[in-house]
Amino acid sequence: MSELNVVSISEAQIPADPFVARHLIDGSWRGSADGATFDRVSPSHGSVVTVASRGGAQDVDAAISAARLAFDKGRWSKMTGKDRATLLLKVADLIDRERARIAFHETLESGKPISQAKAEIEGAADIWRYAASLARTLHGESYNSLGNDFLGMVLKEPIGVVSIITPWNFPFLIVSQKLPFALAAGCTAVVKPSEMTPTTTVILGELLLEAGIPAGVVNIVLGFGDPVGTAMTADRRVDMVTFTGSTGVGKAIVKAASGTLKKVSLELGGKNPQVIFPDADLDSAVDAVVFGVYFNAGECCNSGSRIIVHEDIARNFVARTVALSRKVPFGDPLDPSTKVGAIITPDHQAKINAYVQDAKASGAEVPIGGDALDVPGLNGQFYQPTVVTNVRSDMPIAREEVFGPVLSVLTFRTLDEAIDLVNDADYGLSAGVWSENVHTCLEFARRAQAGTVWTNTWMDGFAEMPFGGVKESGQGRELGKHGLDEFLEAKTVTMRVGRTRAPWVDA
Ligand code: NDP
Repeated sequence: MSELNVVSISEAQIPADPFVARHLIDGSWRGSADGATFDRVSPSHGSVVTVASRGGAQDVDAAISAARLAFDKGRWSKMTGKDRATLLLKVADLIDRERARIAFHETLESGKPISQAKAEIEGAADIWRYAASLARTLHGESYNSLGNDFLGMVLKEPIGVVSIITPWNFPFLIVSQKLPFALAAGCTAVVKPSEMTPTTTVILGELLLEAGIPAGVVNIVLGFGDPVGTAMTADRRVDMVTFTGSTGVGKAIVKAASGTLKKVSLELGGKNPQVIFPDADLDSAVDAVVFGVYFNAGECCNSGSRIIVHEDIARNFVARTVALSRKVPFGDPLDPSTKVGAIITPDHQAKINAYVQDAKASGAEVPIGGDALDVPGLNGQFYQPTVVTNVRSDMPIAREEVFGPVLSVLTFRTLDEAIDLVNDADYGLSAGVWSENVHTCLEFARRAQAGTVWTNTWMDGFAEMPFGGVKESGQGRELGKHGLDEFLEAKTVTMRVGRTRAPWVDA
């Protein structure tokens, strides 16, 4: 264990009193109708950091009613794009003002490193600003090419009431990839954060109120997938559901939403490969592989959880990856030097470990890691940086989302073989290629089945660039102009402006 870079307990203190999180319904903060609450225990420190209202059917009903009324009355959708943009910009400024506080609670509940949390909140503010720019440039199309008698218009209208259901791995960033775009489009929303990470969404609600969002435009209901998420999905007053989380729940949401044929947008899991060719800049590739798999402790839909390395360099590349893995600072997420924090729950830690032990039992080797990590002074769950070699493509560890700091290594001889391995997956979220040959990179980019392809880099994202998956990684896109489009309906207006029409029946 001493060979790893373990960061022991830092000086930073967790608060003596837990954060009290309540629902935001129709512009005011409320406890649950039945008074129920639940606790969130910090995954790194083992103590209660949040007491949250536990939503039930009545709370969801009130939130959806408020969102429906706000939309139908046009409290938000009838405002000008300029006014909507002004409010979104104000929220971005408030996020910047509260960055340290938001990051602190994000770290307490999720276990992610504080320095990373701060960077995510900064990125989230940028997304709110980008969405504000879209609110002012939102427009449809016109067709002046339909002949002398006709003028055609395609109006873009907000889809209506949107249910936003988010996971625990990037609570503030993911709600910021959805909500500002829904608001820019003119929609109203009901938001449910994961029961493990409710606080920063509640703080966002505070900032929305401070910025002057009209009552009912954004509502937040805290609680569990069942009954809160299920009700938000099935209710006929909701026009669209946008969800990020597991593929299993994504499929359940599609089924539940089919009862009312509402639109569903899904950002689900991934088993994202990085392919490394011998002519690559191997220093950069090793660093990107280590970043790709350990970032957010691997609890990331974009985790670069499998690498496919050319046989000629595989032995050396793995040795370098293992050596660099030892240097990554794992430990107390409140210490600013930590790069990898805690695992979200004890159950999830057990699931990660089960994948590694199963692979070992099937003949895989584990040159580093494969066990829990003991962080002196802390009472949470941590997992060691883990590299698994001798992996066959049919093993669960090579195919399923482990969602932990665990790298699977496969090898290839030809580009075709590499592409076959990349595409031999149920998922298709992202893929990467490392080569100094632009033709290799381009061919890879065109043939890889993935929503995002990175060449000679990993996991760079921009508010302008759409993000989403193919196959079982989801449907629809977030961010960029496509991210706005998800929340808009097209309405066709065909106007007869000339009088040359021959009658259908002679009068
Ligand atoms: P889930 O998919 O279960 O949870 C995501 C969100 O959906 C949470 O807010 C959850 O509520 C809610 N939810 C759960 N069930 C339903 C339902 N039937 N209808 C509507 N909403 C529902 O992810 P988990 O947190 O359970 O994580 C399980 C696995 O999912 C992970 O191990 C990982 O593999 C994957 N995952 C993938 C993510 C991604 O970014 N692609 C993100 C998170 C997880 P609540 O949990 O509060 O009850």
